[in-house]
Amino acid sequence: MSLVLQGFSVGGGIAIGRAHLVRQSMDDVVHLQLEDDAIEQEIKRFEEAIKLTRKQLEKLRISIPENAPTELGAFISLHLMLLTDVTISREPIDLIEEEHCNAEWALKIQVENLSQQFDDIEDEYLRERKQDMLQVVERIFKNLAGQNPEVGMSVDLFDETILVAHDLSPADMVYFKDNRIAAFTTDVGGLTSHTAILGKSLDLPSVIALNNGRDLIREDDWLIIDGIDGVVIVQPDDIVLTEYRQRAREYKAGLKKLEKIKKVAAQTLEGIPVDLLANIESPDDIEDVLKTGADGVGLFRSEFLFLNRDTFPTEEEQYQVYTQTIKSLKTKQLTVRTIDLGVDKNPRWFHHDQGLNPALGLTGIRLCLAEPILFRTQLRALLRASVHGDIQIMFPMISSIVELNQALSHLEIVKDQLKEEKIPFNVKIKIGTMIEIPSAALTVTSILKKVDFISIGTNDLIQYTLAVDRANTAVAHLYQSTHPAILKLVSHIIKSANKLEKPVAICGEMAGDIKLTRLLLAMGLRRFSMHPANLLAIKQRICETKLIDIEPISVKVFRTEDPDRVEELVTKMNSL
Ligand code: PEP
Ligand code: MG
Repeated sequence: MSLVLQGFSVGGGIAIGRAHLVRQSMDDVVHLQLEDDAIEQEIKRFEEAIKLTRKQLEKLRISIPENAPTELGAFISLHLMLLTDVTISREPIDLIEEEHCNAEWALKIQVENLSQQFDDIEDEYLRERKQDMLQVVERIFKNLAGQNPEVGMSVDLFDETILVAHDLSPADMVYFKDNRIAAFTTDVGGLTSHTAILGKSLDLPSVIALNNGRDLIREDDWLIIDGIDGVVIVQPDDIVLTEYRQRAREYKAGLKKLEKIKKVAAQTLEGIPVDLLANIESPDDIEDVLKTGADGVGLFRSEFLFLNRDTFPTEEEQYQVYTQTIKSLKTKQLTVRTIDLGVDKNPRWFHHDQGLNPALGLTGIRLCLAEPILFRTQLRALLRASVHGDIQIMFPMISSIVELNQALSHLEIVKDQLKEEKIPFNVKIKIGTMIEIPSAALTVTSILKKVDFISIGTNDLIQYTLAVDRANTAVAHLYQSTHPAILKLVSHIIKSANKLEKPVAICGEMAGDIKLTRLLLAMGLRRFSMHPANLLAIKQRICETKLIDIEPISVKVFRTEDPDRVEELVTKMNSL
């Protein structure tokens, strides 16, 4: 019997293929009752996993670069210590022997006991070590399954594999860049979560926030993933399959048609030019950028270079990546955002306590200011690469000019060092900031006076203004880019920048949302940065727009404080 599930569409068109359930950590562990003669083998399997985990941690410890934060070595030592503790390395073996259960189940039972004991500890520091214990155990789980340590995958991937996961982290998504799959679904997530953003950049049909897809879909089920309408059809019948095959063909034909405007200038019907830039996460994305004819890269989320590895990249490694990226962009501009780690993007070597509200904690520029070596290493690499082309540097999550001044003084120190070492760099390199925190939006004029350009991060601006977690399905209906408060803020930022004649772009998801293109043009936006996959459709919309015609409706949009009325007016504006 077929089944239809509704979620949010991330894009990428339509895929038809077979489900592969992504097993994720402890929650998915099943209880197996083993025969007597299987016990010895099971214990051996557990011991092997412990051995492998120890090897991985030891390798990690010896490969820490000299300039790494000092806590890093201490944390790895702590993990090694936890691993050798009898509660983790010996007691699960006793359980396997006594209960005749599988190793995963024994470990899960043991972890539940240990978690309880940690929760009962009064000393706050010791209580918080529970997270370390869980990280160590997670490693053992993955080694037990012989899986890819990042995603929990134990099968080879094929063109028609559709991954069905409860959740995928941004780091998991990076893994898919190099591995073939047809599509993916998750049960949780919001449309501007980093997982969804990466899904878009992979241009894979994907549907998120299915709620219980992971429970309802079975391994090898045939699936249709409709990334246009956000629908997943499980075990479709022949009639539905035929219909979707036709829709997939039409979608591809539509994309092909759009390719024809690749070389057409992006300008409104009255000839006002608009810059269309691309967002990227790795140098590998440049090929797609060039294919769409983008004017350059408006946002390189450089933190993705720091994920899925055991140590942070050295200055030389980073220099090579930035150099390769700018060279492959030929004469086009590259805006590199300095690392925006924390919250959902936590490298393995990152051991800061995230607190109860990670999105309000040590993230973005705050983390860089707290880890000057990390920050300056990246700035050195970027400055050195700036001799190879038009590189701009952009700081994330700036909340005030105080933070901006601190970031700028690190930059000055690094520039002085390079001068002293006679290492060349572009002394006129342009510096900008993201405007993605309401406090920065409201004080944008003072920020603008200190930088060469700004770029509006609407994904976070919406989250922080509306107090809605961008990745939380339960509140996704409250995450509204057309909320009048958001429109007021975005319009204020654009107007302030235009007044001072400083370039302003939007690099959040609003820039690639065709529903909003006309409204943003009416606000005075002339630089849009988005996934390459959205760029030609946005260009087409710009080329069909006459600003003078949409102005009367836009005036009404900016006057109303009623979100429903905004929706109505935007629909009307788009129907002109
Ligand atoms: C944003 O917040 O809009 C943005 C572009 O940055 P990120 O999505 O990486 O947080
Ligand atoms: Mg952001």
